[in-house]
Amino acid sequence: MTDDQNDAKQWRTATQLVRGGTHRSEFQETSEGLFLTSGYAYESAEQAQRAFKGEEDVFMYSRYGNPTVAMFEKRLSLLEGTQYCFATASGMAAVFAAFASYLNAGDRIVASRALFGSCHFVVSTILPRYGIEAELVDGTDLNQWEKALSKPANAVFLESPSNPTLEIIDITAVAKLAHKAGAKLVIDNVFASPILQKPIELGADIVVYSATKHIDGQGRVMGGALLTNDTEYFNEKFIPFVRNTGPSLSPFNAWVMLKGLETLDLRIRQHCTNALAVATHLEDHTDVTRTIYPGLKSHPQYDLAKTQMKDSGTVVAFEVKGGQDRAFKFLNALKLVDISNNLGDAKSLITHPATTTHQRLGPDVRAEMGVTDNLVRISVGLEDPEDIKDDLDQALKASA
Ligand SMILES: *Cc1c(COP(=O)(O)O)cnc(C)c1O
Repeated sequence: MTDDQNDAKQWRTATQLVRGGTHRSEFQETSEGLFLTSGYAYESAEQAQRAFKGEEDVFMYSRYGNPTVAMFEKRLSLLEGTQYCFATASGMAAVFAAFASYLNAGDRIVASRALFGSCHFVVSTILPRYGIEAELVDGTDLNQWEKALSKPANAVFLESPSNPTLEIIDITAVAKLAHKAGAKLVIDNVFASPILQKPIELGADIVVYSATKHIDGQGRVMGGALLTNDTEYFNEKFIPFVRNTGPSLSPFNAWVMLKGLETLDLRIRQHCTNALAVATHLEDHTDVTRTIYPGLKSHPQYDLAKTQMKDSGTVVAFEVKGGQDRAFKFLNALKLVDISNNLGDAKSLITHPATTTHQRLGPDVRAEMGVTDNLVRISVGLEDPEDIKDDLDQALKASA
């Protein structure tokens, strides 16, 4: 296979997304090869021995690495600007491995409360079962971070923008507090996507993705990734953990994700344009009592979002006038937008977080997070924004 990508780091983003990491076989295929293989033949018994001793860098077994998966990892790490990337079977596999690979009983994790439902479950329920103490704070309140991190900690975890209330957390400020407390800062960058926000440049140590969302972007396959520049963490903690526990991404899914990356920049730009159009429209609607979008001046962290993100994201949350009944009637009246908890898809998708993604958290936690009974979250797709607005309008009217 040929691999002459010495210039790849100098390429601009759009070029990296189309060509980064490409590794051609002897056939010189233009599209990336799909290596559906679990194992690899060695030239000799001696080579196998060297590979197992770590003296020769060859593919050994697809739980460890695979040529198609490696192309995806390389392309994503060029985009993120990190030395290391490991692709996982889902976003949650990356999140869990990020922590389980290095935290020990007696360690402490501090996280923002407004987390994706499963991330919240990992931090507040699973990790404490292994003796890891978890403390949750209001991520937008730096005083709460400061207080929680006045004691030593091992991990700090946050999501910005958060799901579903789109809170923006000051990553630079939290990074400083985390490092002072002795913790690694882990960012779930799914909502921003690697196009809009670069957590490593803002001081984060580790970035995790659900590639299922914008990176695939067309609702096809599950996947995730962890990226970092922390050599000791990656080589000594993370890699031994994932090699031996097996959350690896399938080569087929990696191939789909590689194709997703080729159009990521273009898609995210259009998603943002459409999301702003939808948010601006909803804000003026008499049947909408609150519209949350970081690109609206009414957003409480509008200025922070402008400095931290390149654009305002692909998701809009809003409260319809009335309660859960009205919200359900509204969802059921939609003709174009699908009811689905996925996001980052070319298709516009809408969900009622209180009864779906955040149901398990219970009413008290939901109230703390601002997940009200009339809140809905729309992942704004790539349809013509006029058609999305028309559909929202007719469903708001029909549900009144
Ligand atoms: C979807 C999502 C995850 C989990 O990713 P999966 O690929 O579904 O496992 C984690 N964090 C956020 C913010 C998400 O939106």
